[in-house]
Amino acid sequence: MVLGSGHGRRDAVVVGAGPNGLAAAVTLARAGLSVRVYERASRAGGGAATRELTLPGYLHDVCSAVHPLAFESAFFRAFGLRDRVRFITPDVSFAQPLDGGRAAVAFRDLARTRDGLGLDGKAYERLLRPLVEHASHVADLTGSTLVRVPRHPVSALRFAVRVAEQGTPAWNARFREDAAPALLTGVAAHTILTQPSLAGAGAGLALGAYAHAQGWPIPVGGSQAIIDAMLEDLRAHGGELITDHEVTSLNELDDARVAMLDVTPRALLRMAGERMPARFGRRLRAVRYGGAVAKVDFALNAPVPWANADVRRAGTIHVGGTRAEMAAAENDVNRGRHPEHPYVLAAQQSVFDPSRAPAGAHTLWTYTHVPAGSAADREDAVTAQIERFAPGFRDTIVAVSSRTAVEVEAHNPNYVAGDIAAGSPDLRQILRRPTLSPDPWRTPIPGVYLATASAAPGPGVHGLAGWHAARSALRHEFGIRDSPDLSP
Ligand SMILES: Cc1cc2nc3c(=O)[nH]c(=O)nc-3n(C[C@H](O)[C@H](O)[C@H](O)COP(=O)(O)OP(=O)(O)OC[C@H]3O[C@@H](n4cnc5c(N)ncnc54)[C@H](O)[C@@H]3O)c2cc1C
Repeated sequence: MVLGSGHGRRDAVVVGAGPNGLAAAVTLARAGLSVRVYERASRAGGGAATRELTLPGYLHDVCSAVHPLAFESAFFRAFGLRDRVRFITPDVSFAQPLDGGRAAVAFRDLARTRDGLGLDGKAYERLLRPLVEHASHVADLTGSTLVRVPRHPVSALRFAVRVAEQGTPAWNARFREDAAPALLTGVAAHTILTQPSLAGAGAGLALGAYAHAQGWPIPVGGSQAIIDAMLEDLRAHGGELITDHEVTSLNELDDARVAMLDVTPRALLRMAGERMPARFGRRLRAVRYGGAVAKVDFALNAPVPWANADVRRAGTIHVGGTRAEMAAAENDVNRGRHPEHPYVLAAQQSVFDPSRAPAGAHTLWTYTHVPAGSAADREDAVTAQIERFAPGFRDTIVAVSSRTAVEVEAHNPNYVAGDIAAGSPDLRQILRRPTLSPDPWRTPIPGVYLATASAAPGPGVHGLAGWHAARSALRHEFGIRDSPDLSP
């Protein structure tokens, strides 16, 4: 299907109906523009889709599951996501099971967390408290390109000092026991970067601050609810979605005034062909794709029998033992090896949201990190790590859906070789995402914008890249300087 052959001229075309593509589409439609979204899959969603992956009646989040940015993203706040989607926020944001039935537990309440962390409770609280109290400043700092003057310089400085500590070999200096450091590394390891690392610490501290500020919410019914809310708004404002349509060339989009691309730099290079300016092309070719994930989803006949009672109440569980064990596993992945005792991210949404599984039954969402392009099935390794902290887990399993990193990319080409960040979120590529610019969403190809996790501020379900890209396009292509009202 080619734009211009019977479809009529549009103001804007969006390629890709992930959270960023739809955020761009909604923003442009709310500014009064005509918008069409093309999506290669048969349903919108991208990294926020929910499907019956194992058995009928078991709803699994195909990619993202837990949404620390749902309440902190400036786009979602403007969009009023909280008023459109029902969220459940567990009292325990995340937990880190340790051997012997022990656990480090991040309650939403920071004081309660401190009280559970033994000798290191106060040190953990001192690290996090200023960030938690100014979580909106942290979100502002990390929610856009870093190539700009921070709006809250004192908060930015406090954040930077803590990143410098937790992102370097000095990371254990303030701690005496194993629980608090494990809690922090469990979050920093989301980035699939070497541990310790500055970018890992930055992401970990920001996510940790949100965990103790507004919590880590999960949407009732699955991540798809966020997508459906954006689609509903788009349609209510005249926008349309065409599914099962892969855009392969920018030439297909010539009849639209702007093209907003929810794709990777690699895909843009292919789509632009001869139209790619040489210098920008060199920059895009230099983008590095990072470590990957293998995903394992379980249908269970009971909740996971975690040995520690507080872990049973956690929305998210970082499974991998101590800081040293997780760092070793992550550093193995970054050297191209599959760790024997991997770091596993798990979420147990059905404990809080009974709509995810038939009565009495449960789902467990997990993934683990693997080297880029791995074809290894990690079901056994993931199961063994969970069994280590939840004896009897194996007996609760009814069905399993296991996807390798290669299959993750086949499902969505934005996850190059299984890299769910659509470009490694290391320090260099967080600064230059994809270019070192105060407006990295605008490309030198006239009318073409990047509305994707491959552009600032990077991965996560927050819609921010799409929102920034759309506002840039409104300014540059349509002379609209004011952000459109996005409220429900
Ligand atoms: C396994 C996994 C777990 C994750 N867990 C979390 C989590 O718990 N919390 C969180 O915040 N984030 C999580 N993430 C990251 C998050 O899902 C992504 O960062 C986010 O979805 C990026 O949004 P996006 O719109 O940029 O891209 P995507 O969500 O990847 O959407 C891109 C869309 O574009 C479509 N597309 C691509 N190329 C074309 C084309 N040529 N033509 C038409 N359509 C095209 C794709 O099919 C896709 O629908 C996870 C990701 C994965 C894979």
